[in-house]
Amino acid sequence: MATIQDRLRIPWSGGAKQIAFDAILPIFIIPAMLLLASMSLWWTIFTFTTVVIFLTLISRFFIKNIPHTKFFFLWTITTLTVLYFIFEFIVIPFLEILLEENIALSVLIFGFVISVCLMKKRTKQLFMIVESSRNDKEGDRLKSCNICQIKVPSRDRHCLWLDCCVGNHNRCLFISALFFATSALTYSSNLTLTSVCHPFTLYRAILLPDDCSDVYKLFELGLSFVSAVYSLALAAILLLLFLQQLVLVSLGITAKEWNKLPLVSKLCLGMFANRPHSKGFCRNWTQVICWSGNPQYEQFNQEV
Ligand SMILES: [Zn+2]
Repeated sequence: MATIQDRLRIPWSGGAKQIAFDAILPIFIIPAMLLLASMSLWWTIFTFTTVVIFLTLISRFFIKNIPHTKFFFLWTITTLTVLYFIFEFIVIPFLEILLEENIALSVLIFGFVISVCLMKKRTKQLFMIVESSRNDKEGDRLKSCNICQIKVPSRDRHCLWLDCCVGNHNRCLFISALFFATSALTYSSNLTLTSVCHPFTLYRAILLPDDCSDVYKLFELGLSFVSAVYSLALAAILLLLFLQQLVLVSLGITAKEWNKLPLVSKLCLGMFANRPHSKGFCRNWTQVICWSGNPQYEQFNQEV
């Protein structure tokens, strides 16, 4: 693996730039997956199932052997780029999408991109926090991340797909990123499906797809259809993550603490569990939304 990685270089001003072999895999896998899936219904089921199994196996391998891999982050970027490209250059020419619908979708995508950029920016700022701020007055529990090599306040998780640690410093941005991503994926899949399938109107207001049996007869229709199915599957996963974050912040616990709860507590949404770091619903949310007001953080910035 190290030899292959060493030989992979792209011409760059000032000398060839080394690129990681594992990081570029999504650039080939995602377009290939969508192209194969667009051939027929059976190819769609086969391809998506294979990719889920592949991702499950390879994620275990990468986490164990290459924890700093950019594979998952490149998967996110490639997915965003490919889905947007298909929507703009294949679905839009069907002339079924209104300009304002296209603008609304672009705004949602822009919201997601901005949220992720700010998340990463805030995590980079954490490098400025020194050991002396370990015990802050607001009760943020600084925990180390082996991948980022930093201490993160009330660390929730290291999100491999965004290549960024999630803690109290950027949790509201993580939640907004999940919200924008879920909305954009659901909206784009609905627009696509109602363009390529026979639509019907629900309550005279909501347009939904009805019969999609003809989509595999034309390449453009098939590709648009599978991109919408892929978007919808991602939206369902992100919606669960979004709801999980709402519950965790309300309870004042992290994902790791949630996983340790007994099943009975989880079924009661953790409301009766022992939560020593919770400050109550309102203060938990205030702490997450107004994290930049952390006194130690500001004090340290002033010293810098
Ligand atoms: Zn991390």
